[in-house]
Amino acid sequence: MQLSDKYPFLTNYFTLALTSKNRAMPQSILFYGNDLDSQYILAKEVARLLNCKKDKSDDCDCLDCKWINSNSHPAVMTISRLDNKPEDDDSKTVISIKQSQLIKDKLMSSSDYHRVFIFCDRDEEGNVQGLNPLNFQAETANSLLKIIEEPQAGVTFIFLTRYIEDVLPTIISRSQCFFVPSYENNNYDYSIIEGIFTDYYNFERKDVFDVSQRLQDLSKDFSQEQILSAIQNYIYAILKSNPQMTSLIKHIEIVENAKRQSLLGIRSVNIFDDLCLKLIK
Ligand SMILES: [Zn+2]
Repeated sequence: MQLSDKYPFLTNYFTLALTSKNRAMPQSILFYGNDLDSQYILAKEVARLLNCKKDKSDDCDCLDCKWINSNSHPAVMTISRLDNKPEDDDSKTVISIKQSQLIKDKLMSSSDYHRVFIFCDRDEEGNVQGLNPLNFQAETANSLLKIIEEPQAGVTFIFLTRYIEDVLPTIISRSQCFFVPSYENNNYDYSIIEGIFTDYYNFERKDVFDVSQRLQDLSKDFSQEQILSAIQNYIYAILKSNPQMTSLIKHIEIVENAKRQSLLGIRSVNIFDDLCLKLIK
């Protein structure tokens, strides 16, 4: 499916902003929502629209479009805890002050291209993940404020995150924010799994199949998707009030994978057993 079919309201918005005199193209953009892969593709699409030397069509074959499609454009940089680290930077869990400085240094010289910096996170397998207070900490975010607030021409910053409140208000207030819907329905509520899953990280291994059975019983009244979203929302709530429980970040990912299995039509007994085995140690 073409991006412009999947997110017509967003691609239209940016295409219009680039061609219309009345609507300015935002120079700091924040995407949020559950579907980080789509956010990343959208970010690259913005970079492509800004750099394309031909007609900006989906299948344009100009050099800039080719570069962006193959992730090799010299002026489009992904900034994450794993991408584009200066050589003397040994931080592995955060976007660092040194990366912020690297960006500032780059902006000191002129460029023939429109520079786009895409801020996100990645897991060890290379999957795009969202910014949060752990991987994009206040010190680094604040060090970027000046260049975001008074951006020079030909520079665009794009931030990707799951929940808008995971990014500092100072960044949000300087950015134009766009919700990127996923095909999942998320109501940000975990009440349906309260009592079954509360404090699951304190459960014991012997509880696994009991908990899984209770989740399966729940699926008489709720869809797998609703149950898994509720679990994910619960983990996020815990993580927000206990940011030191970093092992739970992995759990959000595990539930995300369970959601994908659910979409593939895998039986709920298998999904919930597998999930509980992974989450309850
Ligand atoms: Zn092009």
